[in-house]
Amino acid sequence: MTAAVIDGKAFAATLRARVGDLARAFEDKAGRKAGLAVVLVGEDPASQVYVRSKGKSTLEAGMASFEHKLPADTAEADLLAVVEKLNADPAVDGILVQLPLPRHMDEQKVIAAIAPDKDVDGFHVINAGRLAVGQPGFVPCTPLGCLMLLKDKLGSLSGLDAVVIGRSNIVGKPMAQLLLAESCTVTIAHSRTKDLPEVVRRADIVVAAVGRPEMVKADWIKPGATVIDVGINRVPAAEEGKTRLVGDVDYAGVSQVAGAITPVPGGVGPMTIAVLLRNTLVAAHRNAGLELSADAI
Ligand code: NDP
Repeated sequence: MTAAVIDGKAFAATLRARVGDLARAFEDKAGRKAGLAVVLVGEDPASQVYVRSKGKSTLEAGMASFEHKLPADTAEADLLAVVEKLNADPAVDGILVQLPLPRHMDEQKVIAAIAPDKDVDGFHVINAGRLAVGQPGFVPCTPLGCLMLLKDKLGSLSGLDAVVIGRSNIVGKPMAQLLLAESCTVTIAHSRTKDLPEVVRRADIVVAAVGRPEMVKADWIKPGATVIDVGINRVPAAEEGKTRLVGDVDYAGVSQVAGAITPVPGGVGPMTIAVLLRNTLVAAHRNAGLELSADAI
């Protein structure tokens, strides 16, 4: 058996186009564009790439993009002052502070300073709490993107056994909450889990968010299971001095057993920015007091 490939790149392109149409409709109704502010502190090369690509995608979706680049030695108080200014700015619907922050800053304190209704990354404890109790809020982009792919592939997830490998606040925990809300029976596995292969073998849905190249093997997978690979790992390529991206799942082996699988790259990765734009559009509607039906997006 060869698994169906879940094309996250195509799904993300469709979602971005839909967000673009709705962003233009928002502008007509609200008399302004939806706006996303991204704050980057320091010169981490990967963060610079992410911020540039978020800015470009925001403009492509017909939204306003505000970039704030601060030097690495910025005082925490000065970053907090920038966040406060963005909280108060009516042109800004969403605020994203690119992580990781330099070591002298307390990430939790900075995230806590973002107005929860502009926290389009969904990292604020208020939004984590809303997700946990089933109230509307903002859900972290990567796990929400994974859920969209799963629902698109499987329809109803009710009653399915789901195993999430990883318990970070950014991916694993919110992923588990989302699957629970869809009435899956959810197991969260992590580095202390006993006999991980046996735990994973029970799953109809496997979400791997570990950060270990090709850790999940074919003989861990129940035949026909749906496998979502969140991992992004850079490993040496066959060609001297080059690298390539692999996920947390042994794609070649697992795709012989699974029913459906996301590739790396081209699976979960492209969903993250598409969902960020979607969350910004939702924030803009809420901030402007406009309706946006859940079916529209
Ligand atoms: P973290 O490092 O925060 O969390 C990793 C989790 O994996 C931890 O809960 C850890 O357990 C668990 N883990 C580590 N080793 C093992 C093991 N041997 N067996 C079982 N569990 C293990 O990572 P993130 O959640 O931030 O990211 C996970 C992966 O997803 C990374 O590859 C990252 O690059 C990628 N990612 C991709 C995104 C995208 O856009 N596609 C966005 C965000 C992340 P414990 O808690 O016990 O230490």
